[in-house]
Amino acid sequence: MKDKKTPLGGNVSWKETTPGGIIYDAGNATRYKTGEWRSMKPVWNKDKCKQCMLCFPVCPDSSILVEDGKMTGIDYDHCKGCGVCVEACPFNVFDFVKEE
Ligand code: SF4
Ligand code: SF4
Repeated sequence: MKDKKTPLGGNVSWKETTPGGIIYDAGNATRYKTGEWRSMKPVWNKDKCKQCMLCFPVCPDSSILVEDGKMTGIDYDHCKGCGVCVEACPFNVFDFVKEE
């Protein structure tokens, strides 16, 4: 078995790999537009936002966009429409609407 080509690109047997090691390129979620899974969508009403930033840490997809310490919008390429930010906002800034 030692001479067989493996996904690691060499003559490495499974016994020589690290337990839990990654064999193929693991990829990165930022490369994929996972927001397409969304059925609901938060709509940020900029003028009502008080910049308290309570929505930012609760987003499980890091989709609250921030620049210079201020919220600037939502990354719809990755937002999955879970609605957690909508619930967390104390000022009812978001509308939560059906994705078209
Ligand atoms: S709906 Fe969910 S995923 Fe989208 S921005 Fe809000 S908390 Fe993040
Ligand atoms: S929680 Fe509401 S008020 Fe606070 S930054 Fe987010 S959208 Fe703005």
